[in-house]
Amino acid sequence: MNDLPLSLLDDFIEPARPALRRSRQAEVRWGARVVTVGGGAPVRVQSMTNSDTVDAIGTAIQVKELAIAGSEMVRITVNTPEAADAVPHIRDQLDRMGVDVPLIGDFHYNGHKLLADSPACAQALSKYRINPGNVGKGEKGDRQFAQIVEIAAKYDKAVRIGVNWGSLDQELLAQMMDDNAKRAEPFDAQQIMYRALITSAIESAKQAEAIGLRGEQIILSCKVSGVQDLISVYRALAKRCDYALHLGLTEAGMATKGTVASSTALAVLLQEGIGDTIRVSLTPQPGEARTQEVVIAAEILQSLGLRAFNPSVTACPGCGRTTSTTFQEMAKQIDDFLRAQMPVWKTRYPGVEKMKVAVMGCIVNGPGESKHANIGISLPGTGEAPAAPVYIDGEKALTLRGAGIATEFQALVENYIEKRYGAATTAHPGVPA
Ligand code: SF4
Repeated sequence: MNDLPLSLLDDFIEPARPALRRSRQAEVRWGARVVTVGGGAPVRVQSMTNSDTVDAIGTAIQVKELAIAGSEMVRITVNTPEAADAVPHIRDQLDRMGVDVPLIGDFHYNGHKLLADSPACAQALSKYRINPGNVGKGEKGDRQFAQIVEIAAKYDKAVRIGVNWGSLDQELLAQMMDDNAKRAEPFDAQQIMYRALITSAIESAKQAEAIGLRGEQIILSCKVSGVQDLISVYRALAKRCDYALHLGLTEAGMATKGTVASSTALAVLLQEGIGDTIRVSLTPQPGEARTQEVVIAAEILQSLGLRAFNPSVTACPGCGRTTSTTFQEMAKQIDDFLRAQMPVWKTRYPGVEKMKVAVMGCIVNGPGESKHANIGISLPGTGEAPAAPVYIDGEKALTLRGAGIATEFQALVENYIEKRYGAATTAHPGVPA
């Protein structure tokens, strides 16, 4: 092997691609809008508001922002009678604004009562989230859980049974610890925690089916805040059931830490085919838009090649060869421009979300990356001639010079999109809806 010339290596190099996991398919519906989850559907992006639900207008506006950013379902807190009363108004407001994104109600402790007392709320929501650790204790808890499930069955709503290690069913945990203590070789505490999470989710789902919910109406989640813990739990959960799975790292944290931790955990699992809808639980930094969690979730899916949401901008990191910030500014300007146009472009120019744009800092890798993109520009590095070659569909098309390079390149990108995608009338092949 060591003496073999590289050209003689004839073993096939397997291209990496996400695995497929078979699951039942849930449907989360509002009007004509049907968001399928699992069962071969594209992995969905979802998010949650942090507005006061009682503020129906403010919440509707935030839901709309999240939907425009790419969230295909939006969860709202329903924690009081006032919040439950606000839900139909939020729905009405969204419908008036032409936003048909399905709403998910997040219930803890009193969900059974809120849903029973407010049929309008129960109907305006498209999916209910129940945390088995927060529905009550013992027989009372079973009764309250059953009440929510019966209402979901009555209105044909999807349900997420969402277990969280921060609010794990304490009775179940105590029972499992007692049973474990009786074993000849007891498991360690981590194993018990994993098993309690999975057992709580699957047993609750079976209970919901016994009450009258179809398996296709159920989505499961078992959220923890440690990356390795999440991977361990979801691998085991995915093997033990065929329900659609909601995937997310809970309490991921802020900024870089939250982004990296979520991306790391979700990427490993999504590559294994585990996860049918994702949420990035990012703590917004003061002043940061709530939509950032949607942007990150979409980027995770797009980076893995699972979905295409926005044209991608390839930009080099820069180095000592390019000492000005021109190309950084230009890469950002193009990226911002493309994202801002997408709400309109995604219907006007089907397939544009798969476009690749390259903005490179010098001629070392610039022309090569540009040739691999639909359209790319290679800016002059330090000491290079003040000229920026532009490549279109792999061929050098022209050279830009002078102070207006950024504006001229943006116009070239727009022109390319119009010509390449403007004539299309149907969705681009292979691009999931
Ligand atoms: S393309 Fe040029 S400027 Fe960019 S990282 Fe490579 S060598 Fe540096």
